[in-house]
Amino acid sequence: MPGDGREEELRETREKVREEKEKVRQEVEESARAASLELSSFDQHPADLASDLFLREQMQGVYELLDRREERLDQALQREDRGICVRCGRTIERERLKILPETDLCARCARELAEKGP
Ligand SMILES: [Zn+2]
Repeated sequence: MPGDGREEELRETREKVREEKEKVRQEVEESARAASLELSSFDQHPADLASDLFLREQMQGVYELLDRREERLDQALQREDRGICVRCGRTIERERLKILPETDLCARCARELAEKGP
């Protein structure tokens, strides 16, 4: 619905996610660069290498999550029936949309789906 602030919320959140993603991407690149330097030195402790690798994998995971979230926000911006639950057709709670503007499920359906599992 125009003028209810939803679109603005979505755009703002997408901007934030985009910035966050960019930050994480730079960190991943940075640590990959640092790691390739470390690998060429002989005195690197294996435990340090392992924890570096672990951290890098974690950041990569964070990056992928942010990437997916940005995609969902983009899709939400294109959706005509924003704010309507795709499962039961009820209006999605305003509070829920504030926290998760890209959601297409109301709180009840989200809870039911989470309980049922995939
Ligand atoms: Zn629902």
